[in-house]
Amino acid sequence: MIWYPYEQMKTMHPPYKIIDAEGVYLYTEERKLIDSVSSWWSVIHGYKHPELNQAIEDQLKKFAHVMLGGLTHEPAQRLSEKLQSWLPGDLDYCFFSDSGSVAVEVALKIALQYYMNRDETDRTMILSLEHAYHGDTFKTMDVGDDEDYHFVLKAYGKNPDIVHIPTEIAALEEAFTKYHDRLNCFIVEPLLQGAGGMRMYDIAFLRRARELCDRYDVLLIFDEVATGFGRTGNRFVADLVLPDILVLGKGLTGGYIGHAVTVATQRVYDGFYDDHPEHALMHGPTFMGNALACSVALKSIELFERDDYLSKIRRIEEITRREMQDFSDPRIKEVRTMGACVCVEVYDPSDIRGYQQFACERGVFSRPFLNYLYAMVPYIIREEDLVKVLRTMKAWFGRNSI
Ligand SMILES: *Cc1c(COP(=O)(O)O)cnc(C)c1O
Repeated sequence: MIWYPYEQMKTMHPPYKIIDAEGVYLYTEERKLIDSVSSWWSVIHGYKHPELNQAIEDQLKKFAHVMLGGLTHEPAQRLSEKLQSWLPGDLDYCFFSDSGSVAVEVALKIALQYYMNRDETDRTMILSLEHAYHGDTFKTMDVGDDEDYHFVLKAYGKNPDIVHIPTEIAALEEAFTKYHDRLNCFIVEPLLQGAGGMRMYDIAFLRRARELCDRYDVLLIFDEVATGFGRTGNRFVADLVLPDILVLGKGLTGGYIGHAVTVATQRVYDGFYDDHPEHALMHGPTFMGNALACSVALKSIELFERDDYLSKIRRIEEITRREMQDFSDPRIKEVRTMGACVCVEVYDPSDIRGYQQFACERGVFSRPFLNYLYAMVPYIIREEDLVKVLRTMKAWFGRNSI
């Protein structure tokens, strides 16, 4: 019996059973559905991509996996070299892990230990955002904003070492004034907060955060598990403002295999690099640097560059803005678009109840949550399919057939 994610099993609508997938399409026995969710925002090149499949098959002929403890291999070496040259600034040191949540845990551990290694043991506090989502493991739940997700944390009461602020510069400045000498890091989903409700904010906030982190010697962590690889219209938000630690996941392997990476700058790495064994980073997920995952990630990055994905994403944004402009309804609080993400926020969650079924009947797979109806399509989507996804959203409010 499968225990499904984020579901009250007693009342859950049975999931759609997928028997094949190709390009942007998911196939059930009866239907062909456009995947407007990209399997939790990860399948950026679509399903069953011939070159990604081939990359895995080629590596499979050698070996699927060997551990990185005491061993190394070419796919992991080549991926770390590629990321080192491809990522901005001196984000040069790659720590691999098997999921975004674990990679965020690693980032938080690095930030804490960076100061412990310098005997600054008072820096136990973390600054994060309201409505933040950084994963489902315990520390990531802690830095996340538990209002909508992690009810179980109520068991512990409020953690005094974590401060949540809205994405407003005044609040940011106030938090630094109050807590700067106790903070080890400020962790954010830059520009676009995903699971917290597709909330979009201005780059000026991040620029100010960078200045304050520099002034007070606090590490800035970008959790780009969702925003990385083009989702906001930028390759990485880190291309605009350089963090000290960058976390990538989801799209890293083109959605083929769960894998993630925590990337540190020279300064952060140097905080661990000395003659004390206890200054080492004590972490090592069993499947870190999995050879199949690294091989497919390399190919995914190659496609992203070769086929000019940023222009594909710009086109998605243009079509989305064109289709959604002037669209409004009294039930809708806001329609917002950034890069290849569009979100329709309603005032009352009951106004989008039943949408998944409605969309499915029209050939679109969607997974609205709380007050949010959204699309994060694979970047290879054709215009007519994207238009269909967007018009299905609009049709729900008009209840006209399309
Ligand atoms: C999905 C997500 C995570 C968690 O990644 P998993 O691979 O599901 O553990 C962390 N941070 C952000 C911003 C995410 O969107």
